[in-house]
Amino acid sequence: MSATTVGPRDRFGVLGWPVGHSRSPAMMQAAGLERYQRLPVAPAAFDDTVRALGAAGFRGANVTIPHKQAALALATSASQAARAIGAANTLSFGDDGSIAAENTDAPGLMAALGRVPQSALVLGAGGSARAAIWALAQSGAEVFVWNRTPGRAAGLGARVVPRPIAAEVLVNCTSVGLDRTSSPFKDLPLDADAISEYATVVDLVYREGGTALIEEAERRGASTVDGLEILVRQGALSFSLWTGLDAPLDVMRAAARDPRPEAEGA
Ligand code: NAP
Repeated sequence: MSATTVGPRDRFGVLGWPVGHSRSPAMMQAAGLERYQRLPVAPAAFDDTVRALGAAGFRGANVTIPHKQAALALATSASQAARAIGAANTLSFGDDGSIAAENTDAPGLMAALGRVPQSALVLGAGGSARAAIWALAQSGAEVFVWNRTPGRAAGLGARVVPRPIAAEVLVNCTSVGLDRTSSPFKDLPLDADAISEYATVVDLVYREGGTALIEEAERRGASTVDGLEILVRQGALSFSLWTGLDAPLDVMRAAARDPRPEAEGA
């Protein structure tokens, strides 16, 4: 797809199941993609639905849980990053029926960090952890990974550790902290005092009111990157991919953090 062909009638969306909580529509509509909408698609309907999107006027789609691997599998072409990570969070639909897969989660994390750390500890071994490990390792950081199920952490390109260790940056890629009943200091082998061992704490999880991990890191003077900033950065890269334009980061950030619902029927 040529980025310059994007016009006001072009449609965009975010594919997920569920996807009702996503801040992407508010953020992308604010950035100028007025016809960006939620696309709740069950896994069984994913392939057929996505293959029909191009003919329905869609130029691009973001992809979230649980479809990132399926998105890569059905694409007709994929970037080296998406292939290496094994997941795509951004699809671009061409007029000829082509579907190009990209992963902007990885460069989005590095953009949010703003530097290449010497060392990083990634918590988790799911889809977002794979992207984080790949991004950090590609950039030249020494990367360690801890996961509740250690076997899942093997072969991801990071040194598996049996318990969290000190590093320059801590990146939480588990889903712990997503709801009020889970806490990184209860569900992970992470001591609140140990947070002082990290110069920067990144939490991919985001929820209204913020997460306990970010709150504790701020209390202890670490620099922090929260999940909404990660969302904004990956979204900004998707926006630029589709439009060829620089993304309006401040506008997207404000919209992502605004709890009011976005416009209906976009
Ligand atoms: P995923 O593939 O389902 O992986 C979930 C990970 O969390 C696994 O490593 C799993 O460990 C671990 N986990 C779940 N419950 C746990 C518990 N009670 N104790 C310890 N570990 C637990 O999910 P994902 O796609 O990587 O996403 C992870 C989180 O990041 C989600 O909350 C998601 O919303 C968030 N996320 C945010 C952004 C953003 O833009 N901010 C982007 C992507 C994802 P096991 O392997 O042991 O099951």
